[in-house]
Amino acid sequence: MAKLYFRFGAVGSAKTLNLLAVAHAYRQQDKQVFLMKPRLDTRFGEAVIRSRAGLSQKADLLVDADTVLDLDLLEGYHCILVDEAQFLSADFIDQLRRVTRVLQIPVICYGLRTDFRAQLFEGSKRLMELSDAIEEVKTTCAFCNRKGIFNLKLVEGRPSLAGPTVDLGAEEKYLPACHDCFAKELEEGTELGFCQAAQHKGRETSSRGALRDLEDQF
Ligand SMILES: [Zn+2]
Repeated sequence: MAKLYFRFGAVGSAKTLNLLAVAHAYRQQDKQVFLMKPRLDTRFGEAVIRSRAGLSQKADLLVDADTVLDLDLLEGYHCILVDEAQFLSADFIDQLRRVTRVLQIPVICYGLRTDFRAQLFEGSKRLMELSDAIEEVKTTCAFCNRKGIFNLKLVEGRPSLAGPTVDLGAEEKYLPACHDCFAKELEEGTELGFCQAAQHKGRETSSRGALRDLEDQF
């Protein structure tokens, strides 16, 4: 039985580097890997999956909110690797789940568990629900030596809870943080503390809504 994997980790946990290493290992054995990522992540150029360590690979497919997977396209591949899977729709994750059953190809998704308000992304939520294996890619808190599990958003160096959930602008920076440091930084740096974050969600929390917001900007 082919499995669906969700490998999640906070920002800076080298998820993409891990993905590229898996792709390399398959290719070393003359096996074919298919790479995909959501189209809205265009930080590094349209169709490129690039790690912060500098390695990159061309994506075979950019996924939109309404993409319907053509299973014929995936025939003959040995593994499907998905980067930034948190930005995918629940419907698309359902399609990936179906690929593992119908085509018997394993699908490995990499992504963030939660956004900067510590709320599940739509894609991550569905992956938590459907995956055979949920594995953590670990990283260290930027402020202490504990494990970083949250993504602290900084705008001009200040912790922030503002802005849409999907926010890939160059002016924002994200740091991995443990719970203690995440809460402390937000309490000291914003008028809202971590406990208020959930109530501050607003209309922008759905990734589909945020995607529309993003599309409106371009
Ligand atoms: Zn910490």
